[in-house]
Amino acid sequence: MTIYGATVVDTPGDPFAGDPAAALAEDGALLVRDGVIRARGSLAALCEAHPGEPVTRLDGGLLVPGFVDTHVHFPQIRAIGGMGLPLLEWLDRYALPEESKLADLAYARAVAAEFLDGLVASGTTSALVFGSHFAPAMDELFAAAEQRGLNITSGLVVSDRKLRPDLLSSPEAALADSADLLRRWHDRGRLRYAVTPRFSLSASDGMLDACAQLLGQDIWFTSHLNENLAEIATVTELFPGSQHYLDTYSKHGLVTARSVFAHNVHPSDAELTLLAEHDASVAHCPSSNGALGSGLFPLRRHVEHGVHVALGTDVGAGSGLFLPKEALQAYFIQQLLGPAGMSLTPVHLLYLATRAGALTLGLEDRVGDLAVGKDFDAVWLRPADGSTLAVNLRYARDTADALARIFALGTPADVAGVWVRGVRAESAAYPDPR
Ligand SMILES: [Zn+2]
Repeated sequence: MTIYGATVVDTPGDPFAGDPAAALAEDGALLVRDGVIRARGSLAALCEAHPGEPVTRLDGGLLVPGFVDTHVHFPQIRAIGGMGLPLLEWLDRYALPEESKLADLAYARAVAAEFLDGLVASGTTSALVFGSHFAPAMDELFAAAEQRGLNITSGLVVSDRKLRPDLLSSPEAALADSADLLRRWHDRGRLRYAVTPRFSLSASDGMLDACAQLLGQDIWFTSHLNENLAEIATVTELFPGSQHYLDTYSKHGLVTARSVFAHNVHPSDAELTLLAEHDASVAHCPSSNGALGSGLFPLRRHVEHGVHVALGTDVGAGSGLFLPKEALQAYFIQQLLGPAGMSLTPVHLLYLATRAGALTLGLEDRVGDLAVGKDFDAVWLRPADGSTLAVNLRYARDTADALARIFALGTPADVAGVWVRGVRAESAAYPDPR
């Protein structure tokens, strides 16, 4: 057992339902045994109740739950920063040529390690990961995630049209390859499988039918939805009988409580209603939306329809793996929307980066906050002395204000420690400076 003395901050409540400040919780210590939080309270109280237990002091900064990224592409970790193009042209020019390289097993292995080490260095301990088009590359990702103990939900990306020929397969091959991966990796430790057509633009009805055949009781589903106007126009042409983009998935039974759709920047009210009816979720990826000029995410309409929303970095269209930066971008976008936007507090931002993601991925009983009984997946955000963030934390009025300054100024360099189910992660990218 270990007692961690820290400024422990999380959002067990829902800031979108009532007073945001009431969703925030703060304590001075956690008792952790076998990777699970066994007690929480003041440092003095935990030390008195558990005399003789070793104490690890995490002084300065905040200890928050491990971040949950609900949309990120592992094969694109080497392709961040492609500027100046909208979605479909960006895919052809930057993303898909890189994804083709994962046909090479050694390349895929290196990319998987770089991707997962990048997640850990950014404080992300759970993620819904958009996979590769190549099954052996998926074995590399799952094996490397298992080795690191991370909560990873992922699956083979399948498509049978409108992409580079080397990224296409048939519904029969996609079904066989996916079923094989699913059988070997789903529900193995902290790993789970997600059926993953790239988007209905690149998936025929036959391919979407194959996806539906894979969806068992506890299998996840993820894809893209309503990201860009040219994409939506093409989907409308390809599926003349469909009512809207979401219908291309829903008519195959692919909209469920375990479905996560990335983007949804341009939804109709009918689509929002359908998402809410099926308890499906949306991964909001603001920096990607900005980089590709996709549009300003209508968060208020999602919340008013009762659609679950969490955050995704959408690397490589997104500009990095650090989820607090994504939360800041979400805040900016809502400000830019004016009266149509939702003014987000720092409590909303912490919730979106942690518990909202856990709820979206059905992991809320295990991660997303630091309550007793949860896994000890945590990030210690402590800036270097003398940094502008350190200066600002010194002048923070209260915990919410400290969070605001972390979201405004924080970078992966401020990640002073990451715990994955109670084990402090070794990060190749950011060795512990203290
Ligand atoms: Zn994406």
